[in-house]
Amino acid sequence: MPLGDFPTPVEPLSGLNRKQKHSGLYIKRDDLSATPYGGNKIRKLEFLLADARKKGSRRIITSGAAGSNHALATAMYSRKCGFPCTLMLFAQPPAPGIDRQLLADFATGAELIHDTSYADHCRHLAAIVTGYTETDGIPPYVIPAGGSAPTGAVGYVNAAFELAEQINQGILPEPAAVYVTLGTMGTVAGLLIGFTAAGINSSIIAVRVVPDVVADRQKLSGLFESTNRLLHEADPAFPLINFEHTAIELKNTYFGNGYGMPTPEAQTAIRIFRDHDDIALDPVYTGKTAAAFLDAISTAGSSQKNVLFWHTKSACPPPAPPTPVDFKNLPQEFHSYFEDSQ
Ligand SMILES: *Cc1c(COP(=O)(O)O)cnc(C)c1O
Repeated sequence: MPLGDFPTPVEPLSGLNRKQKHSGLYIKRDDLSATPYGGNKIRKLEFLLADARKKGSRRIITSGAAGSNHALATAMYSRKCGFPCTLMLFAQPPAPGIDRQLLADFATGAELIHDTSYADHCRHLAAIVTGYTETDGIPPYVIPAGGSAPTGAVGYVNAAFELAEQINQGILPEPAAVYVTLGTMGTVAGLLIGFTAAGINSSIIAVRVVPDVVADRQKLSGLFESTNRLLHEADPAFPLINFEHTAIELKNTYFGNGYGMPTPEAQTAIRIFRDHDDIALDPVYTGKTAAAFLDAISTAGSSQKNVLFWHTKSACPPPAPPTPVDFKNLPQEFHSYFEDSQ
């Protein structure tokens, strides 16, 4: 289901290259993947929403933390494709921007359901699915948090082939390393499969920004295998790849005190990207990855390697509702995100 503007550009990080006396720092601009709202979830939704249409589904249900980029992207693009949408959002620590995200969710017309925790959400989901199966006569299409079902991860297998084409065209040399954020893991799992299948030899440095109950090496290997199997079953010419033979490194030390909790290193990295290259990062995901990227290039010193930073946060902010929305119209449980930020 075409939703985005692909290929997304690859550009040198000219300001950072000057500052670091480097010449091989590049950025992949998935922040520009779509308008009016981009970021990495668009590539996944192209496959997920197509699958929902193929299955004849009548409703999309997905989940995420209250300020979830994935939930908003799903609500916006489900609506664009004609699907009613339910967002099941669980509590997260209050942070700037969650209020704006929730107003944008609400403005899509999506149903908003609050869950007090991820565990509460899992218990609640079955009841919601049963309810809609009865009213619609067909089960709703359930997209897991982050869009990281195997079908969604295929979007990033595709993205690897897009990068291979850009390398072949001479837009960038093959990077020694690619820095990318590890959340619900669909992005990294897809890229890792795609790099091997497309013959890209770069290592993937995956910077974890969620607790290890959500993402670790073993879970990544599971999603990698189920995504790979899906592709191999669709076309036996697609290779089955051994996860243990892939070039993946997990960075666990940039997470800080929790999901969505800012770290000083990320705040510094956000400032450096903004001041030198006018690139906007975020404190929850890409800022932490940029901190790892900057540490690696400053400690590498004169051993100049080409390194790619894969930007995954939408450059466009969540769209403001066409007519002002009073937050009191949202379900009561969400009001605290507005009251705390005032
Ligand atoms: C969801 C998200 C990620 C993480 O991607 P996963 O595929 O969930 O690992 C990274 N950056 C941003 C901005 C995101 O919204």
